[in-house]
Amino acid sequence: MKLSNYFIDTLREDPSDAEVISQKLMLRASMIKKLASGIYTYLPLGLRVLRKVEKIVRESMNKAGGIELLMPAVQPAELWQESGRWDFYGKELLRLKDRHNRDFCIGPTHEEIITDIVRTSIRSYKQLPLTFYQIQTKFRDEVRPRFGIMRAREFIMKDAYSFDVSDEAAEISYRKMDKAYREIFERCGLTYKVVDADSGAIGGSFSHEFMVTAETGEDEIVSCNSCDYSANIEKATVIYNANPSENVKGKLEKVLTPKSHTVEEVRKFLSLKTEDIVKSMLVRCDDKFYIILIRGDRELNLAKFKNMINSATCELATAKEVVEVTKGDLGFTGPIGIDTPIYADNEIKDMINFVTGANEKDMHYINVNIDIDFKVESYGDFRNASELDICPKCGGKYVITRGIEVGHIFKLGTKYSEKMKAHFIDNGGKGSKIVMGCYGIGVGRVAAAAVEQCYDDKGILWPKAIAPFEIVIVPMSNDDEEVNNLSNKLYEDLLEKGIDVLLDDRDERGGVKLKDAELIGYPIYITVGKKSVAEGYFELTVRKELIKHKIEISKAVNKTVEILDFIG
Ligand code: ATP
Ligand code: MG
Repeated sequence: MKLSNYFIDTLREDPSDAEVISQKLMLRASMIKKLASGIYTYLPLGLRVLRKVEKIVRESMNKAGGIELLMPAVQPAELWQESGRWDFYGKELLRLKDRHNRDFCIGPTHEEIITDIVRTSIRSYKQLPLTFYQIQTKFRDEVRPRFGIMRAREFIMKDAYSFDVSDEAAEISYRKMDKAYREIFERCGLTYKVVDADSGAIGGSFSHEFMVTAETGEDEIVSCNSCDYSANIEKATVIYNANPSENVKGKLEKVLTPKSHTVEEVRKFLSLKTEDIVKSMLVRCDDKFYIILIRGDRELNLAKFKNMINSATCELATAKEVVEVTKGDLGFTGPIGIDTPIYADNEIKDMINFVTGANEKDMHYINVNIDIDFKVESYGDFRNASELDICPKCGGKYVITRGIEVGHIFKLGTKYSEKMKAHFIDNGGKGSKIVMGCYGIGVGRVAAAAVEQCYDDKGILWPKAIAPFEIVIVPMSNDDEEVNNLSNKLYEDLLEKGIDVLLDDRDERGGVKLKDAELIGYPIYITVGKKSVAEGYFELTVRKELIKHKIEISKAVNKTVEILDFIG
């Protein structure tokens, strides 16, 4: 490609609304362009990156036995009503009506569509197993689209679905995908971790997430410092060791705590320790309210609670709901005298004489005790793990880091085949439900995650496998015939060797072209200058190390190929 006949429009300054480095650099390097919140164009350079990621994904999926197809983005409501998700998916699902007033949605994922295909075509165990995949545009009306293409509303996903005759067979399909995913992320040049993930309310199933390690990641990863245990914080187990207090139980008392809404304000006002306070959180799960009690210094883990009560949705109640349900003020919720079911984190079992809200403005209770002052429905692990907790596998220490979820594999079981009647005849002639798995990779998110891991103060440092071009040739002067001829010749020769090379033949100063080359982050750039040409060499720079090599003009092609082969 010659740049004079291509399109780039780099920016010198960071766009003011960009929050993370990948978003800043991809916008500046003319890879993406924002159209609306969470909706982006892939400009030509960005599209090249995307296509390279897709190629790697396709190759590994095909190798693992995946069969590619392409399903529509627009999906009829009927299938979603059949699976029960039309009502449950909530506001992330973009719904629309056609001219006949029929309901449709733009697919955020495709379980319903693929299950419909399979149930009408598959009759016998002889036709299974099958794994289908597609690389396709999804739409999710995210509450907080942010970080550019990392958490977009419209984005490209590789989604795959496996269909098997039994749980054991489904596990084999799952393992194949796990292997393919590892291969994909390694080939993309990413440093990643595979972590245990929350599998929601489906029951009996399991799932793993592929996390690219990065400080800007939205997910917290809990790992053990002495074994291979690693889990998303939503999932990471907190081991409970009973440690009951020996103190004498005091007498319940209601005290005035003016304007003390937060744990910190209550702690200060009553001169207590944070651990003496119990937070009462009102949550709404499938339209029912619950109060969850956790120690003042802990963080509530809604995913764990949602799984325990087996609900489809679970969120913190709104301020309005708190006032309606507790009849008290926001910040003063408590478990005493309320008819909402009360659940408590395991740790609360051991506490006596603690402080809670009194469901009344500016009031708290002190000397609160379970069974005397209120009853707990059930206890469980309802809090986030911390670095003070202990690994459930080996007793080692937890370490918490951050990551970007680039892939998710999931054993679905018979959730969809049951609801949507996807059956087959087994080898004994009996009807049976198909066992499913689903597997996603955020193709755009992979590109952004690569930038989060590979950049410096000048720009992006693309891993070679997914760089928009592998090499850029930069003639340093435009009016020198020899420089132009030699640049062209090198370009043609490298093209001939099958190298993905770009010639920056724009009518710009050398310095400008170099700045662009560094910002865009081609793994190698070669400058062709009047002076070096006169001395018989080109200057080749490996972008990652900024190490310059003088390469003799006569051996330039072979030398370049050699260096390119060597770098990652
Ligand atoms: P997240 O927790 O980040 O919202 P998810 O659990 O909703 O992800 P899945 O439904 O498992 O994601 O989707 C499969 C993959 O699609 C994810 O692993 C991620 O790489 C990608 N993905 C999901 N949501 C987005 C988004 N809003 N923008 C870009 N990629 C996304
Ligand atoms: Mg999501």
